[in-house]
Amino acid sequence: MTKEETIELFNKYVIANYGRLPRVIVKGEGCYLYDSDGNKILDMFPGWAVSAIGHCHPKVVEAIRKQAGELLHIDNTFYSEPQGKLAKMLSERAFGGKSFFCNSGAEANEAALKLARLHTSSEKYKFITTEGSFHGRTFATLTATAQPRHHEGLLPLLPGFVYVPFNNIAAMEAAFDDEVAAVMVEPIQGEGGINIPDPNYLKEIRRLCDDHGALLICDEVTTGLGRTGKWFAYQHFDVEPDMITMAKALGGGVSIGAMMAKSEVAATLVPGKHASTFGGNALVCAAAIAVIEAIEEENLIENANQLGKYTMQKLAELKKKHFIIDSIRGVGLMIGIQLNSPGQPIVNKCLERGLRVNCTQGTVLRLMMPMIVTKEQVDQAIDIMDSVFSEG
Ligand SMILES: *Cc1c(COP(=O)(O)O)cnc(C)c1O
Repeated sequence: MTKEETIELFNKYVIANYGRLPRVIVKGEGCYLYDSDGNKILDMFPGWAVSAIGHCHPKVVEAIRKQAGELLHIDNTFYSEPQGKLAKMLSERAFGGKSFFCNSGAEANEAALKLARLHTSSEKYKFITTEGSFHGRTFATLTATAQPRHHEGLLPLLPGFVYVPFNNIAAMEAAFDDEVAAVMVEPIQGEGGINIPDPNYLKEIRRLCDDHGALLICDEVTTGLGRTGKWFAYQHFDVEPDMITMAKALGGGVSIGAMMAKSEVAATLVPGKHASTFGGNALVCAAAIAVIEAIEEENLIENANQLGKYTMQKLAELKKKHFIIDSIRGVGLMIGIQLNSPGQPIVNKCLERGLRVNCTQGTVLRLMMPMIVTKEQVDQAIDIMDSVFSEG
């Protein structure tokens, strides 16, 4: 099939709810994408932050092949080894909680919101979330997403949500009362523009939650699994949440989400209260186990730390040269370049030169570099951005 024929299929048969670039991707390998015209693209935003250990990591591909030959899907009427094993691995790398498995970030957040209402007393029904957050596209998670542009045309939303500015503990305190069931917050906002809170922010939220008998839910759907230089971003802030949610990086490219809760909270989720037909099947759990093993065997968290620092240095040099860069924010390989002007033309020009980056909030270039990235690849990305910025 030609590229034009593929695009024609989309035009005729696929709902046009995405702004797609006119390229057909035929192969992904490590930090690179290949399109049907034979272009090789350095991918610094792989799979919209899903392919965090690169495209088609060989250990993940091998685990999927092996599991596919034994058992693809088994429903949750039974036990299966991969799900149990994965839950143990996640528990040991977080706060020792128990996991519920689903298929996406939004579903993981739905599970967390439901569990918060179920677990807290009946007069508690409110959720506090922060402006600029992104928590998903289902009605509850869309309501949790405190960005009016995502709500347009969809009112009324779910009752009970209260929004406060991010990284403003006084506003959070003012919004708190004894009807709050939980605070849901990204430790570092992703879609909101790579916003990093003050070191004490999460701790202060923890204190407010404890004072009012509310739960703290950290949405780690983007930040989870090592890209910030720790397994989970909350671990940068000396705080322990009651629940975390994860998805994107977890499956190495297959659809899996998870909500982990402290054991005493998890105990509320008894049979009949929540479920997911596909959740935690053997195939996706085998893939996720391989992701965690690959991260450890290849020291990828350490690489995320080192290469993240290196990239920040290189970007600081670029900032000196180019007025278009206002500031740079980053933790590990999760980096935002705040521009003084719209980012989409920059994204398009980078792609023409073989570099994929993303733009969020109109003026923030966003990098979610794969944790296998090398110095040479960072240099290549910096060189391409340098030449694009020079063009103006
Ligand atoms: C992507 C994302 C979600 C939604 O995940 P889906 O898999 O698209 O449902 C939720 N929260 C955060 C922080 C995300 O980045």
